[in-house]
This record gives sequence, C-alpha cells and structure tokens, in this order.
Amino acid sequence: MKSSLTAHVAIIGAGPYGLAAAAHLRALGVETCIFGRVMEFWQNQMPHGMLLRSSWEASHIADPDRRLTLDRYQTLQNVPLSKPIPLDGFIDYGRWFQQRVAPDLDKRRVKRLEHTGEGFRLSLEDGECVRAARVVVATGIAPFAHRPPPFDALPPALVSHTSEHRDLRRLGSGPVVIVGGGQSALESAALLAEADADVEVIVRKSDVHWLDQKLAWLKSEANPVRRLFYPPTDVGPPGLNWIVATPGLFRRLPFPLQEKVAYRSIRPAGAGWLLPRVGGVRITTGCAVISASSGGERVKLKLDDGTDRRVHHVLLATGYRVDVALYDFLAPELLKAVRRVDGYPLLGPGFESSLPGLHFLGAPAARSFGPVSRFVSGTPYTARALTRRIAGKSERKLEPILMRPATAFAIGSGRAASHVNAAEYLRKR
Ligand SMILES: Cc1cc2nc3c(=O)[nH]c(=O)nc-3n(C[C@H](O)[C@H](O)[C@H](O)COP(=O)(O)OP(=O)(O)OC[C@H]3O[C@@H](n4cnc5c(N)ncnc54)[C@H](O)[C@@H]3O)c2cc1C
Repeated sequence: MKSSLTAHVAIIGAGPYGLAAAAHLRALGVETCIFGRVMEFWQNQMPHGMLLRSSWEASHIADPDRRLTLDRYQTLQNVPLSKPIPLDGFIDYGRWFQQRVAPDLDKRRVKRLEHTGEGFRLSLEDGECVRAARVVVATGIAPFAHRPPPFDALPPALVSHTSEHRDLRRLGSGPVVIVGGGQSALESAALLAEADADVEVIVRKSDVHWLDQKLAWLKSEANPVRRLFYPPTDVGPPGLNWIVATPGLFRRLPFPLQEKVAYRSIRPAGAGWLLPRVGGVRITTGCAVISASSGGERVKLKLDDGTDRRVHHVLLATGYRVDVALYDFLAPELLKAVRRVDGYPLLGPGFESSLPGLHFLGAPAARSFGPVSRFVSGTPYTARALTRRIAGKSERKLEPILMRPATAFAIGSGRAASHVNAAEYLRKR
C-alpha cells in the first residue's frame, strides 16, 4: 500500500453531480479532492449524435454564483450551442466547467471505499490511499443498466444495452429490434433509421407518450407566464413539476404519494422534437417480448401477441435500476451500515446516508429526494444542501468568513491549474 493522504471531503465522480458539489464546497474553502473521469458516462455510454432531452434551462451544471452556466460557456468560449443541446457540446461544456472548478481532478479510479471508524479510506487504482472525514459518492448510473430476464443468456453480439454503445452504426443495417418506449429507445431508433438500418421498436405500453405535444404554447419561451407552469428543473407535468422541483418538500410527502408523483413525472416518453425523425420507423405498441433465443447469427423473439421476429440484434433501451450494492468499490462492511430500500440508500439532510459522513448524490438519491435527482437540473438543490450540511451554513453567508486559499482554485485560478491531481494538491498543502 502506498502512502496515505488526508482530505476533509473526497468526492468520487466527475459528472454533473460531482462537479457541482466540488464547485460549491470549494467556493467555501472546504478542502475537497475529487476523483473520476470528467463526463465519462456522457462520453462513452451515450450514442454519438444524441441530443439532450432536457431543456437549456434544465441543463446548467450548478455553481454557487451562476458564473458557469451554458450561456456563459457559449459567450466566453465563443461556441454557439443549438437547442436541443447536442451531446458533444454538452460534454465540452462539462469539461470547461471542470477546468474552472477542479483543474486538479484526479482521474484515478477508487477501487475501495472503507469506513475506518474515524472516517473513510479510499484506495486508488495504483494502490495509493486517501483518508477523508467525509465522502460524497457521485458515480452515476453506469452499473445499473437493466436487462430484462428473457435476454439474460444471450451474448453481447446479439443483445446489448443502449449504455454499451457510443456509435450505433456499428450495429449494421439490421434488422434490429429495440425494446423500450422511452427517449433512449426512440432516439436510438431515429439514429439507426437515419443510418439506413431496418429497425422496429417494441413498446409494452399501449401507446408512446410524446412530451410537449398538447401544451406546447404554454411552455413556449414567448409565453410571459410560462414560469408559473414550468419551473426551470423541467421534470414532470404541470402541477407535479413544482413538487418535483422542491426536493425538500418531496421528501416530506408520504411514500405512496411520492411514488405516484415520481412515476407520473418520469414515465417513459419521447421528446416531441423526435416525432418527425421516427416517421419511417415501425413502432409496435402493446406487446412484450416473452422469450429470446439465438439461432445462428440471429435472435429469435417471441412476443405476447403471438408473433415472432428474427433479427440480427436486440437493443435494450430498458433503462437503469438503482442498486448501490452494484457500486463495486463500496466495501461490504460499509454497505451494511447504509440503510437501503429497494437498492436506494435512505438519505437525510444534506444527502447523508445512515453512515454519518457518507453522502450519495444523483440517481441513488431519487428515493429520498425525488426524480429531479436523476437529472442535471437537480444539481443546484443537491449541491446547496450538501454544502449546508458540510459547512454548516448557507454558502453565501459564509463566503467572506471561510474564503481560504483553496478558494482560489475554485473558479478558474491559474495558480491551481498547476496542481496535477488531488493527491498532489494534498501533498503540497
Ligand atoms: C441516454 C441518456 C440520456 C440522458 N439525457 C439526459 C438529459 O438530456 N438531461 C439530463 O439532465 N440527464 C440526462 N440523462 C441522465 C444523466 O445520466 C444524469 O443526469 C447525469 O449523468 C447524472 O450525473 P452524475 O454526476 O450523477 O453521473 P455521471 O455523469 O454518470 O458521472 C459519474 C462519474 O463517476 C465517475 N466514477 C464512476 N465510478 C468511479 C470510481 N470507482 N472511481 C472514480 N470515479 C468513478 C465517472 O468517471 C464519472 O466521472 C441521460 C441518461 C441517459 C442514459
């Protein structure tokens, strides 16, 4: 085991949640190191050509002074972004954000996270250890990709999950069946159809739900009272969306009501702007795949409407099921101390788990704080609540008191850019 370094807070994850947390904590001078590869999931596990479903206003990664918004990125970098936001543009924005809040990002993977009694020990992939009083887990949904049982036994050449593809064109010209009725299924279908593949989407529900169709005028930017109906978080239908936009309120609702609000807010749906792009795609609704078997280089599917399909590939757009036990870096003893329900950790104020000092951000927080935690638009509330818990007070009130040299690297200081990674920063401290 290599030498041991110490930090007050260690953040694991450099996607929108880890970066927002770093921005807020460092703005208060809270000593923070951050591990992970910047925007890795967006870079490697979403399809080339994808457009973000979330609106412009719902896609800013939060920083405490709103100095690192998409608008600022566009203006300062002189890179115009179209709407809907293209995936590559959003990844570049995330990298720009990281350079300003965490130029010392440590790319090493955390192999093990243990609770030592006094705090936490993180073992990194090269054997180095970091000790931290608090740990923020912001490692996203990659391990939670859901494969329904009929497809368990089939090899990846025949059946894959959407998260396994950066370039869908590699699936060839088909025939391909996509299983699922949400944005990922429909956008994958559009991308494959545009690459001349023979593609069919199989949807369990009786119809596909398209967003922003009926109330387009209400949501339009030209509507001066739009904000009354649509908070900037952009999750859920009018009425429920304000509850979802207020995670502190959502948390206090009785669980059966929370479940209903969450389901209604994130049920499978496609963005309205996708409709014209799937015009030529066969979408079969109201039936499910009941069995799948391989026959040579083809997959044979049986559907519950009595029909069959023989295709080259099945693409599962079947979503993600949170189960933090699938984070393989969490030591079993640590995991045992985290109270969980259905795979989700139960979180209290500041997104803290039942193991004091251990916080979970992003999708794992959805059981406690609601569906906005699954989206970038949940980063402002999350990062503020986390910071309040760790630093004790609201960041704005504390700013003049707690400004320490570490703050200098919070928002783009040249001095900090010389730090190669978190470990080096801690050594130099
Ligand atoms: C196809 C698709 C499209 C989506 N579109 C949208 C959208 O339009 N708008 C929206 O708001 N949301 C969208 N989402 C949801 C999106 O995934 C989340 O909003 C967002 O990624 C959450 O960010 P995060 O920081 O929690 O996780 P991620 O962005 O997944 O970041 C995880 C981080 O953890 C790091 N990491 C993981 N394991 C380790 C380890 N052991 N050690 C160190 N680092 C580690 C990774 O390197 C990475 O930096 C989409 C999801 C999918 C699947």
